[in-house]
Order: sequence, then C-alpha cells, then structure tokens
Amino acid sequence: MIGNRPQFVKAAAVSRRLRERCDEQIVHTGQHYDDELSRIFFEELGVPAPSRELHAGGGTNTAQTARILIGLEPIIEELRPSLVLVYGDTNSTLAGALAAAQAGVPAGHVEAGMRSFDRGMPEELNRVLTDHASHLLLCSTETAMRNLEREGAAGEAHLVGDVMADVSLAFREIAAERSKVLEELGVEPGEYLVVTAHRAGNVDDPERLRTLVELLRALPGQVVFPLHPRTRERLEAAGLTNELGDVKTTAPLGYLDFLQLARHARAVLTDSGGVQKEAYLLGVPCVTLRDTTEWVETVEAGWNVLVDLDRDAAIAALERDPPTERPELYGGGHAAERVCEVVAAYTQRL
Ligand code: UDP
Repeated sequence: MIGNRPQFVKAAAVSRRLRERCDEQIVHTGQHYDDELSRIFFEELGVPAPSRELHAGGGTNTAQTARILIGLEPIIEELRPSLVLVYGDTNSTLAGALAAAQAGVPAGHVEAGMRSFDRGMPEELNRVLTDHASHLLLCSTETAMRNLEREGAAGEAHLVGDVMADVSLAFREIAAERSKVLEELGVEPGEYLVVTAHRAGNVDDPERLRTLVELLRALPGQVVFPLHPRTRERLEAAGLTNELGDVKTTAPLGYLDFLQLARHARAVLTDSGGVQKEAYLLGVPCVTLRDTTEWVETVEAGWNVLVDLDRDAAIAALERDPPTERPELYGGGHAAERVCEVVAAYTQRL
C-alpha cells in the first residue's frame, strides 16, 4: 500500500525483494499522483506498477483518509492478502493499516515506532494510530523499538534498519552517473545549500511561511529550493513567491537528481524526515527546520541541528564543523532484506 513520494522510495527497497518470496500486489492510493511526485519515482527506482489505483488524492486529512479507507475495503475483500504492508506516516499508512485490521487481515508497518512526540503534527497521529493497529512492527532504529515498548504496542516488533537507507546507498553511484543536476542548475560541489520544506506546520500558516522565507533569504551563499507543490501553492496564496530573493527555486526533483544535489551540498536545510536521514547517510550536515525530530540519532551524532524557523540559529548551525565520526545508524543497506525475511516468516506462521 503506497501513495506518496517517500513511500515510493521505501517500496523501491522492499518490493522487488518481496516478490522473490511472496505474491505482492501494489495498491497506489493516489495521495501523490502527478509525474513529479509519483511517476518519475516508479521509473527511476524500478518500483513495480501498481495493480490497483484509488485516485484518492486531495482534500483535508480527514476527507483523504476516509476516501482511502472506503476505496480499500473492497480491494482487501477481493484480494484477501495474508498481510497488508504500509510504510511511514501518511494518511495512506493509517488508512491501509486500519482497513486491513477491520477486515481481519494483519498489517505490517515499515518505519514503526518513530515519534516526534508532537501530536500537533498530522504525521505523528498517523504513526501512533498505525502502530497500534498493526500486527508486525518493523523498526528503523533502537529508539523506535523503545518507543513501542513504552507505549505497550501489542504487535510483534523487529529491528530491521531503515529501508530508505537501502535506496540512498544503492542509487548513489547511479545518480552520479546519470544526473546532470549540478550543471543544469549552475552550482558547484560544496558551494550551495539545498532546502526542502513542506510540513503543514511550516507552510500552512502564512506567518510561519513568511518567517521561513525570511530565514531562507538570510542564508549565506547559493540556495537551491526544489518546491513541493503544497509549498508552491501556499507561497502563491500568501503572495510570497516573489519574496524569495536570490533563492533558486525548482520544480520537485526526481530521486536521482535530488540525491546527487544533496550529496554535493555544503549542507541541507529541511523539515522532511526522509531528507534528514539521507543527509546523514551522505555525510552532509543537516539543519532541521522543526523543533522536534523522529530521527534523534542524527542529532545525537552531531550531524543534525534542530532550529525550528530561527534564522540566527540556522546560520550558527551552518558555521559548525561537522563531526569526524558518523556511526552506522540505519542498517547499512540491508533493511529491505530483513523486512522480507520477517514478513515471509510471519505469513508462513499464519
Ligand atoms: N526528494 C526528491 N525530490 C525532491 C525532494 C525530495 O526525490 O525534490 C526525495 C528525498 O530524497 C526523499 C523523499 O523525497 O527520499 C522525501 O520525501 P518527503 O520530503 O516528501 O517526505 P517526508 O520524508 O518528509 O515524509
């Protein structure tokens, strides 16, 4: 069950491997459906084509979750899978786990146990509720395992590592060969900053969005900002598009271009969970435009600094030298193998 950009990346790690052991059917909920956020990820990363598509994108979180739930019920009824696998923390994740549980089918949650402890984030609600509806909890980190234990989650928890790390490691050299993004944008390795921002908490409120724009304008050197459609829309609605000054905005990039651009950046500034992890794996310092993170190990290791939208704190964070050490945190590229082993063993026991 997949539906948005980071989920296509996660499925790229798991799907082909899973098909070596099980009959996998992909359901695309349509949360992201355009070429830039969907099609290119299937093509570049070789995600198998979905066998069902729901076209349930758009609308509020509640409306979208409801539409996905309604769309999934007959599909689960028809396919009667042994397990429904969901990824991450989106509306598709929660709806997938809930629809499965209500149909009496076990759900497996990849990236279980992640917590920001900020219930104001729609993603946090999705994480908590999905974990408590799932039978199989596939965790990226020890911290996630501890979070689930503390909450008394009833499902079976396994530490598998992080499947996004598998993709980042596997595609790094492919991106280096195929992507011309640095030349296309006219930037030099090590001399620019990459920004991504699209969390509701940063872009939905025009005042917060203005603070973000001011922060970006104050950053030193060349800034490249691939705009998520949500952010582009909110900037336009708030009349802030022309306030970005010298910040170089682009359309959302494909995975290979983004990987190559992030890899050679001086630092990354982001409110994305996936991008915080990817920066760490690439050895690129990260400045997180939030005051909490689920990926606490990157902060503890000294590679990530949480600044919320504090301009001076962001600039100070960029002046720090990165640590000399970068411990292996996310499974070293073997997470999908472990997910498939655990899923195969679990379904055989049913
Ligand atoms: N990404 C991309 N192009 C971009 C920005 C991000 O391919 O222009 C990738 C990034 O490498 C990561 C994923 O999209 O793998 C993160 O997605 P997003 O930030 O939408 O999700 P989050 O992690 O915040 O849930």
